[in-house]
Amino acid sequence: MHHYHRLQELLNTHPVGAPKSEEFIEILKILFRPDEIELALLLDFKLKKANEIAKQAGISQYEVMQRFEAMADRGVILAKRVEGEPAYALLPNYPGLFEYPIMRGGDSDTQARLAELWQAYYMKHMAAELSLANPPWLRVLPAEEALTEDFEILPFEIASQMMAKTKKIALANCPCRLTEKKCSKPIDVCLSFDGAADFLAERGIAREISLDEAREVLKRAEEAGLVHTGSNNRNNLLFICNCCPCCCHMLRLVTEHNYPNGLAKSSYLARIDAPECIGCGICAEERCPVKAIEMIEDIAVLNNDRCIGCGLCVSKCPTNAISLVKRDDYEFPPETVRELSDRVARNKETKRGK
Ligand code: SF4
Ligand code: SF4
Repeated sequence: MHHYHRLQELLNTHPVGAPKSEEFIEILKILFRPDEIELALLLDFKLKKANEIAKQAGISQYEVMQRFEAMADRGVILAKRVEGEPAYALLPNYPGLFEYPIMRGGDSDTQARLAELWQAYYMKHMAAELSLANPPWLRVLPAEEALTEDFEILPFEIASQMMAKTKKIALANCPCRLTEKKCSKPIDVCLSFDGAADFLAERGIAREISLDEAREVLKRAEEAGLVHTGSNNRNNLLFICNCCPCCCHMLRLVTEHNYPNGLAKSSYLARIDAPECIGCGICAEERCPVKAIEMIEDIAVLNNDRCIGCGLCVSKCPTNAISLVKRDDYEFPPETVRELSDRVARNKETKRGK
């Protein structure tokens, strides 16, 4: 079998999935050079030390490091140190092969082709694949401006509180808006933390920022009407994306592909105090990313089932007619990324009848 097809099969063993398609093979051919592909096939999703890979490949550790460091610089494999030694692993499609090479930006023909291929691959295969995740990979974090102290706020629900627990924060460009270019919302709003931040900052794909700057990013995103989403686990925050309904690969599962459970809702729900509504339509027309509010006879009416609890409608209501309330049916997210990943893998197997 062709090496690139073998790499696709290997990547497809990750719970995120990497379905077979011509577009994806072409993506892999852009990301991995022909002289790199055999070496890449020696990796899996667990970090492997350079000296072990060297033994397996029958080449020197120096050569292994030279080749893998170049791939890591391009964001196509993961590089870290294990017990002080360099180690490498494959990256899944999300977060990884889609985001990291695109986040670098640039307007070369290769970047443009990569963007086209990811658009096609997402539409034909990846959206359906991502929608199979149960629990969903991402969950909505409510806009901070919408939160009041009237009810208990869960610490893992508040973006800024979760960020405050991390040791390192890095800021990068949004790969979804860079590839789709369907809106003019801010691009520089992709936050990653700790291990992911270390890797991305070290490779120049993101830049390290302070907690204060990260809080400013959240504010800017809320002002622009972007939905905060984070990895759907309670501890060890990996990243926070700030998503628009037209470009984001995850939010579009709900807004475009009709997978209402493609994204985990926050533990909140909007509530509209009808007598206070003056019918301006701002919430329905300008703020709600999932069309959960409809204007009926000049009064805003909420569709509870559609509301994802992002809180974007709250801060711009001129009469404070909207607030967030707790959801009754809220399910706690898994504790760690590992638990999330294991549950997704088990549930996918059951769904596919394996
Ligand atoms: S923004 Fe407030 S006042 Fe305007 S339509 Fe929505 S609920 Fe009514
Ligand atoms: S109504 Fe729309 S904008 Fe308001 S919280 Fe729900 S999903 Fe977000």
